[in-house]
Amino acid sequence: MSTMSNTTPFRGIIGFSRLRSESHDHPLVIARGEGVHLFDRYGRDYLDGVANFYSASLGFSDPELIDAAKDQLGRIANFSTLSHKLSEPTEALAERLADILPLEAPHIGFATSGSEANEAILKLLAMRDIHQGRAGRRAVLSRWNSYHGSTQATASLGGGSNVHNAFGLETGDRLFLTQPDYDEHALPGESEAAFASRLAEELRTLVHRRGPDRISAFFAEPVSVSAGVAVPPEGYFAAVEAILAEHGIPFVDDEVVTGFWKLGTRFGTDRFGFRPQVMSLAKGINSGYCPLGVFAFSKPLYDEIAEAADANGFLMHGGTYHGHPLASAIALKCLEIYEKRDIAGHVAEVSKAFARRLEMLRSHPLVISVRQAGLLGGIKVDRGVVGMKAEGLAPRLVAAAQEAGLILRASAGCVVIAPPLIIRDQEIEDLFDRFDRALASVRMTASP
Ligand code: PLP
Repeated sequence: MSTMSNTTPFRGIIGFSRLRSESHDHPLVIARGEGVHLFDRYGRDYLDGVANFYSASLGFSDPELIDAAKDQLGRIANFSTLSHKLSEPTEALAERLADILPLEAPHIGFATSGSEANEAILKLLAMRDIHQGRAGRRAVLSRWNSYHGSTQATASLGGGSNVHNAFGLETGDRLFLTQPDYDEHALPGESEAAFASRLAEELRTLVHRRGPDRISAFFAEPVSVSAGVAVPPEGYFAAVEAILAEHGIPFVDDEVVTGFWKLGTRFGTDRFGFRPQVMSLAKGINSGYCPLGVFAFSKPLYDEIAEAADANGFLMHGGTYHGHPLASAIALKCLEIYEKRDIAGHVAEVSKAFARRLEMLRSHPLVISVRQAGLLGGIKVDRGVVGMKAEGLAPRLVAAAQEAGLILRASAGCVVIAPPLIIRDQEIEDLFDRFDRALASVRMTASP
């Protein structure tokens, strides 16, 4: 329990914050969590409408996850997945994931975050390309406003020019595509099918312009939350997948957010019907109770990577905390809970109230559009936002929501709502009632 007085300015550094601001000097300090609720040090209640950055799928106090963690700490609290060794729960987790991931006979690697998982994918694919004598195969395709992580390589892969410029990131090898956001990017009168075809043509043109032999991979999230919950139109992924397959470009499916039932299906692949060769996972894999990232390669790619690694002596990539036993044990329990508590059925049920309350916002004068897939929702209030932005109506609404006891996120001009998957109907009503109060307070102060 903190003994700091609320008048002492905080001396740390908090990401995605305006550093010289009152709210950075005096940040919200959380003392406790219960179900979908957080409580600050003064006991004030907040409903977490974004499940702690889309991670706390089972809420903040699941007794079975906590018991699994305690049990693991009593067995072995620290062991690396390195140098031909690993711990029991990490072995079991790899087996479990190999059974359920929608990849051809996958091999599973471990990291400590989604960023690190994507970073490992970039590195291992580069190693494979170099070994195969294709050192020039350095370009990577992704979409504007996507987010794939915070490391140098993954931040440059995310599509936000203000982020690239701020850190002087190398983007010469990055090829950015239009986000499949129909509301934002469709031409006047263009049908969803025509929009999807146009975006596929854009991909084909970019591949031909750079040369398929110079492209290492294509990265995409099934639904990009950072791009404002961009739910792709029917046919988009089928067309993309076909072009990538034609040119032998690996499809990296970043399911760090969408994995494990957020969209109502276990993975985005089930919802959109595509088959990647590589995946990254984190967050919902263990409800975020301990840092964990996972990457997985289909067998044919894994075999090529293994050959390249062994040609170098051994795989020269790893980390002390990769495949940490605590993170793995919690993940195993979390995956078991998703099945035994029928989280899929629960999400299908509560998504109805979630969709109904989102729809009610569509006609609000401040709202441009609403988006939804399962328990991921977005309320578009600003147009044309590229990358992370501190200004605009969306961040103002998020601040007002916090005043109303609701934690949300602003992304690409959208207010994102993605509560823990265990949320109940009554809590969904409460969430949207709190958001209505935030909307009303911003509307009262909105400049004409
Ligand atoms: N990929 C996606 C789609 C994400 O949304 C995020 C984080 O929000 C990441 C990767 C990076 O994950 P992490 O924050 O665990 O590094």
